[in-house]
Amino acid sequence: MSAETRPEPCAHAERCMQAYVDRALSVEEVRVVEAHLADCPTCARCYTLEAEVRSVVREACAEPCPESLRRELRRICDDCDCE
Ligand SMILES: [Zn+2]
Repeated sequence: MSAETRPEPCAHAERCMQAYVDRALSVEEVRVVEAHLADCPTCARCYTLEAEVRSVVREACAEPCPESLRRELRRICDDCDCE
């Protein structure tokens, strides 16, 4: 039992995670990482979190000014009477 030491396939998948989420891996590497994610719940979970962070960031970038922020800006604008 060696739950403390990370087996090499996990270390490799972890190293590839950023590039995998960014779709920056070669077809060969994607196959290796996907095969590992398929039978390693630890890395699959890690990938899910990584992908979630990416999609949140992407949404935040696609929506540069959320309604709440716009409301807040309008309120500040009203206060300073600039419009
Ligand atoms: Zn793993």
